[in-house]
Amino acid sequence: MTTDLPVPSTRPAPGTLTFSAPRRGKAPQHLSDLDMDGRRAWLAELGHKPFRADQVSRHYFERLVTDPEQMTDLPKAVRDDLVGTLLPTLFTPVRNLSTDDGATVKQVHRLHDGAMVESVLMRYPGRVTMCISSQAGCGMNCPFCATGQAGLTRNLSTAEIVEQVVAAARFLRHGDLAGGSDGAGSTEEALRVSNVVFMGMGEALANYRRSVDAIRRLVDPSPHGLGMSARGITMSTVGLVPAIDKLSREDIPVTLALSLHAPDDELRDELVPINTRWKVDEALDAAHRYYETTGRRVSIEYALIRDINDHAWRADLLGEKLNARGRGWVHVNPIPLNPTPGSKWTASRPGVEQQFVERLRAHGIPTTVRDTRGSEIDGACGQLAATV
Ligand code: SAH
Repeated sequence: MTTDLPVPSTRPAPGTLTFSAPRRGKAPQHLSDLDMDGRRAWLAELGHKPFRADQVSRHYFERLVTDPEQMTDLPKAVRDDLVGTLLPTLFTPVRNLSTDDGATVKQVHRLHDGAMVESVLMRYPGRVTMCISSQAGCGMNCPFCATGQAGLTRNLSTAEIVEQVVAAARFLRHGDLAGGSDGAGSTEEALRVSNVVFMGMGEALANYRRSVDAIRRLVDPSPHGLGMSARGITMSTVGLVPAIDKLSREDIPVTLALSLHAPDDELRDELVPINTRWKVDEALDAAHRYYETTGRRVSIEYALIRDINDHAWRADLLGEKLNARGRGWVHVNPIPLNPTPGSKWTASRPGVEQQFVERLRAHGIPTTVRDTRGSEIDGACGQLAATV
């Protein structure tokens, strides 16, 4: 494949997979890297009173505050020291880009070592969904995805993952995401991040421990964490089979999304290179086991690429493979491809997309086309590349 576009030197050769990050620049330890016991022990080690961990956690997760001046319940003499220790700066804002009259905002953050990471906030009637990143870059090398083309820079820490949600919550609380006072839902709803999807940069299950710890921080009640509902959280994966099984045993009922994109191995080997390791049937079996263990209906993600994977026979084959494993355990989310710079591929024609959807529905599979929100600001699925 040739392209005239300048590409980063890290661009991986087609089909290669990267599991270990070339850069291991560790983020400073932050309170949300640890559970409450860990935070208390950390403070005790430093000669502070352990319960200060609860106080600072409340400021961080509940009040969304990091300024020591505003933490008047802490003795003045130790405030700066405590905050400097527990709440080190994890990233600085580079820019916010907005579209949809301000109801969609992409936030670009610079991490302590210069790596960049992006997250996207989207207001829908009655809910706010945000799309977060689990790695700077990604090693899974899907050829239609901008992040995959940039290669893997490094894993994010637990706190770096959580901080994206806290930063967005702050942004909401300041009324910076448009549409919050339209009357669609209560003020409380308008100001909260209700849904988090791991559909930004990175393969979260390849950064397993930190991503799962981040989920715990999101769902743990304040002051332990943000107190979100696990049902509002979606983990999206290329299909790392052992990690899917492990996730099903964590006892956190998040929704699993499997990025399938093709029902046959020949095509999926090319579109989702991890398929050379775990085949379509193995990935679908793991998704079905996830449903059986957690009771959570699984989503199948399917980017519709013109003349590549949008054939009626592929819709039929997908419907058959899903039904072969049972009924009512799965739904399909086709999404028109968001073309990335230099890509030879584009979205399916609307009529073809419609036909694909109808074929799946004819098999009895609930099917909903996902929107391409944020594509104007390179904030849609697969477009996050953190190029400034
Ligand atoms: N590593 C995770 C998260 C990736 S982004 C995963 O693979 O699931 C979330 C979704 O966007 C995935 O389903 C991914 O395949 C899809 N995606 C990537 N690039 C895309 C593009 N250009 N257009 C539409 N969807 C894309």
